[in-house]
Amino acid sequence: MPERLVDSFGRVHNNLRISVTDRCNIRCFYCMPAENVQFMQRAQLLSFEEIERFVKLAVPLGVDKIRLTGGEPLVRRDLPSLIERLAAIPQIRDIGITTNGILLAEHAQAMWDAGLRRINVSLDALDPVKFQEITRREGYEQVLEGIQEAQRVGFDPVKVNAVSIRGMTESEIVPFGKFARETGAEIRFIEFMPLDADNAWEREKVLYSQEIIDVLSQEIAPLKPLPTQDPTAPATDFEFADGIGRIGFIGSVSQPFCQSCNRFRLTADGKIRNCLFSLEETDIKSMLRGEASDDKIREAVRESIRGKWEGHEINTARFLQPDRPMYSIGG
Ligand code: SAM
Ligand code: SF4
Repeated sequence: MPERLVDSFGRVHNNLRISVTDRCNIRCFYCMPAENVQFMQRAQLLSFEEIERFVKLAVPLGVDKIRLTGGEPLVRRDLPSLIERLAAIPQIRDIGITTNGILLAEHAQAMWDAGLRRINVSLDALDPVKFQEITRREGYEQVLEGIQEAQRVGFDPVKVNAVSIRGMTESEIVPFGKFARETGAEIRFIEFMPLDADNAWEREKVLYSQEIIDVLSQEIAPLKPLPTQDPTAPATDFEFADGIGRIGFIGSVSQPFCQSCNRFRLTADGKIRNCLFSLEETDIKSMLRGEASDDKIREAVRESIRGKWEGHEINTARFLQPDRPMYSIGG
């Protein structure tokens, strides 16, 4: 059995996030530029065969958990067939997707049938005007329909990711708390991170998890932490004291979870990144397309993980924003 993916801080990496495209059908301001995006060419993208080969060779390294992302993963044609290939790998015990939900109503059933069981839908506002302000596109109704359809098909819970931005999403906190209680969807508030294409992130724009906890506790009901939590999960999960409605918090800026990180990434153009914020990447695509053996590729992945930094350094003066924005890395 090849050596597992352990970094120099003892963190074991079993969780692979795979970006299947950098294209997207909306333009969230905290992720993409508004216009004139230079997307990857079709030939630059890993094919489903290449992704499948990579996952199979990563299994002996301990990878057993996968999340598909992008860009918007549902704009990649025939995505359910990739899910089916990955779900057929016996050691992969968990496959999830993160989607903006616009095309979800159309594809939820096919993805379920292909073996997908976890869905996170990104929706930052329940107010349609605010939705459009953030995404710079239409689509609010489709996202809500997508969430409903995913629930109908059997995804339980559907998790809803909401990026929290000071000066913009405060008015959404209570509606999301009520939405969690009324629909059974689990809301996860994510602190705004410096990964936007426009380099407009400022610390003053981060709406901190603790402030949201305080608002929900005062306006709806006290929140109590859930007892069983996955120590490697980025979210801290809570439930309203009356047992109705679950809310998670991803305090990437105020409470970094780097210490327990078990994730690494494969970009749509075949680069391994050992951290969202890493400034270096390892080109796997040229190895997959060249003569490289599985062992050689595994060694390159191990090497990348060995070089992982201790943490993201957002809270230090040394912090440098990576060249690739979120949509190009795969969030
Ligand atoms: N398009 C899909 C979606 O939006 O769900 C998947 C890709 S998106 C890059 C993955 C997640 O990253 C989304 O939940 C999105 O809200 C989040 N995200 C993007 N940019 C972010 C930023 N600057 N700070 C925090 N979260 C961000
Ligand atoms: Fe698209 Fe997702 Fe980025 Fe929004 S966060 S622009 S939906 S890739």
